[in-house]
Amino acid sequence: MADSERTIFAPDDQQDYGDNPTEVRETDKYVEEYVRGFVEKWDELIDWEQRAKSEGRFFIDVLKARGKQTILDVSTGTGFHSIQLLKAGFDVTSADGSAEMLGKAFENGRDHNVVIKTVHADWRWLNRDVHGKFDAIICLGNSFTHLFDENDRRRALAEFYAALKHDGILILDQRNYDKILDDGFSSKHKYYYCGDKVTAEPVHIDEGLARFEYTFPDGSKHNLNMFPLRKDYVRGLLRDVGFQQFHSYGDFQEEGEEKDPDFFIHVAEKS
Ligand code: SAM
Repeated sequence: MADSERTIFAPDDQQDYGDNPTEVRETDKYVEEYVRGFVEKWDELIDWEQRAKSEGRFFIDVLKARGKQTILDVSTGTGFHSIQLLKAGFDVTSADGSAEMLGKAFENGRDHNVVIKTVHADWRWLNRDVHGKFDAIICLGNSFTHLFDENDRRRALAEFYAALKHDGILILDQRNYDKILDDGFSSKHKYYYCGDKVTAEPVHIDEGLARFEYTFPDGSKHNLNMFPLRKDYVRGLLRDVGFQQFHSYGDFQEEGEEKDPDFFIHVAEKS
């Protein structure tokens, strides 16, 4: 193989967690975790049609009920929510700290006949790169879990808060880690990770790390190291940063209606 081929193909498909993968607990790691091979398969992992069916009009209804029009998607990933919201007529700006993800989102937008406005921005310095104030920020697909340091979580939320208009709202979701930490893992795989050919399961859990493994039909495996956020802890952080009103849903239902949901969605309002 020529050197040029080696350099083109080799690094992009390999994740590197070193000799002790469970010791890797760093906020900055997310950029390397989403290597091209993983990003390409991400859309297989989250089957768009099934996901759209599961979520229904949940986010559209939450936004419309509050009269929100300008939306900043801070964890665009491959673009699922940005594209759904653009198609529904919202004015969407799509940010992410991974250029790899934004590239894929842009391609996906083209395939869905919408043009995505992308901004490459890390949450911790969001307002350096994203300008203007938004009616709503969405941080979905269990993304906030990538922050390993409490200071990074506080800083990111403060940046989100500052990028919102005086009556703006933040919609942030998270896996139900309380259930995994307290009772062990069991998932209906119903909402986010709904591709039936891909398995997603934890290979290590402690109070500081949830390491998940994603196995694809071709036998390839990728991992994500995430911080297991407890629900009340997240609500406390949202309160500390200044949000005044909160509503949490479990798997798109009013809290309490769905026993043991897989995901929580927090809607935090500035006023
Ligand atoms: N929201 C998408 C979805 O639901 O399909 C993608 C979710 S993916 C699990 C998490 C995304 O958050 C990735 O695209 C990653 O690059 C982004 N991300 C993680 N930490 C970030 C940070 N500190 N700043 C900006 N983006 C970040």
